[in-house]
Amino acid sequence: MNEIDWNEYALETQAIRAGQHRTHEDEHSMPIFMTSSYVFKSAEEAALRFTGQQAGNIYSRFTNPTVAAFQDRLAMMEKGERCLAFASGMAAIMAVGMGLLKVGDHVVCSRGVFGNTVLMFQNYFGKFGVETDFVDLTDVNAWEAAIKPNTRLLFLETPSNPLIEIADIRALADVAHAHNCLLVVDNCFCTPALQKPLELGADIVVHSATKYIDGQGRCVGGAVVASDEIIEKYIYPYLRTGGATMSAFNAWIFLGGLETLSVRMKAHCDNATALAHWLVEQPAIAKVNYPALTSHPQHELAKRQQSHFGGVVSFEVHGGKKAAWRLIDATQMLSITANLGDVKTTITHPATTTHGRLSSEVRAKAGINDNLVRISVGLEAIEDIKADLARGLTN
Ligand SMILES: *Cc1c(COP(=O)(O)O)cnc(C)c1O
Repeated sequence: MNEIDWNEYALETQAIRAGQHRTHEDEHSMPIFMTSSYVFKSAEEAALRFTGQQAGNIYSRFTNPTVAAFQDRLAMMEKGERCLAFASGMAAIMAVGMGLLKVGDHVVCSRGVFGNTVLMFQNYFGKFGVETDFVDLTDVNAWEAAIKPNTRLLFLETPSNPLIEIADIRALADVAHAHNCLLVVDNCFCTPALQKPLELGADIVVHSATKYIDGQGRCVGGAVVASDEIIEKYIYPYLRTGGATMSAFNAWIFLGGLETLSVRMKAHCDNATALAHWLVEQPAIAKVNYPALTSHPQHELAKRQQSHFGGVVSFEVHGGKKAAWRLIDATQMLSITANLGDVKTTITHPATTTHGRLSSEVRAKAGINDNLVRISVGLEAIEDIKADLARGLTN
């Protein structure tokens, strides 16, 4: 096969073609390399590989051809120089912290991030002398005000979970760089099919591949995308030593996921937009959080920054936690599960599940009320999704 430079192709093509290097077996689909180690032609070659003087595989905790195909494909789609895959999204976030932070450093993080990300910064990095302050995702001035001389990273998710707030990536990248900090963006909700944070000035993208990249709720995985320098100096040495590697099998699933990502994301967004407009009209619903709605505070920003509005909708029901639980329990088809980004629509009550381990004070500050319900809108017929929700809105 002639080596083609896929950088010059569209994202939809890269998602299907990039990263795969055909072997002497002429296979069409990417093989799964289930091997823990690799053999060397001589003792000298082994020594050269271990010192890094010769490129090549050594051991699958470091590199694996199936995992490498996934990494190269995702790096290209994110417009990054290099990607490393991890065992989970949390392992990827952990790697960014372990690679880049040391005792005495400071992090500014948005308040609305994934529950475990809050715990990671507070409980674990905190334990080793890294301090984190949490600020409003959408308040650029608050980010700048929170920066101290020892601040090293700004970390955010956009759109946020579960309130679907939108951060101005370009503005926050400028703030970060003016203070010699790096901006890390968790791009799990949009994926590169909808938003490319590195093009907007972010330095590092992290992913939970578990969500839209898989797209069918099968595997747990994560990734870090950044410049060659950041990956080579800070992230790869940690991966190699820390060992939270993605398995070849999971990489193979995620490669398949990437191939249909653009088509799925568009369909998720179309269904979510239709559902959000329908939810707004329901008298039992007090508030709908979805950036396609002109009532959304960052509607214009979302339009500018993303190519579509995303697949996750959240809303508040009248009547508190009881009403929220009743709505969830009345559904027959929707899956009651905290996972998202699946072709199956999922419904969850953030205050008692994904964000249940946060103190009620932290939760209240983050705006995650007891009457909030989050839906990751799947690809079932929109009429069936509406009908399933209508059961709990009318009884
Ligand atoms: C799920 C999720 C994570 C964590 O990823 P895992 O693969 O579950 O470890 C991080 N960030 C966001 C936004 C997520 O939704």
